[in-house]
Amino acid sequence: MPLFCKQCDGRRLPIYQTTEKDTFWHCEKCGNFADKDDVIIRELTKTEIDEMNKKLDDFKKNVVLTGEKMSRRKGVN
Ligand SMILES: [Zn+2]
Repeated sequence: MPLFCKQCDGRRLPIYQTTEKDTFWHCEKCGNFADKDDVIIRELTKTEIDEMNKKLDDFKKNVVLTGEKMSRRKGVN
């Protein structure tokens, strides 16, 4: 399994692709997808990078908000 990227030795994550109906291995560092035979299928498109960053931003915001609520509760108790 292509768990590690052959370009940067970074760890890859399996991501299911709805368009190809297959799971490809994604390297965050290089932004490419490889199939189970370690053949690079395609690079991450600009739109996908933007979407991922947006999701990451939303996630960070949620974490910050939850963290604030938790600390407030602690202060009350
Ligand atoms: Zn890589």
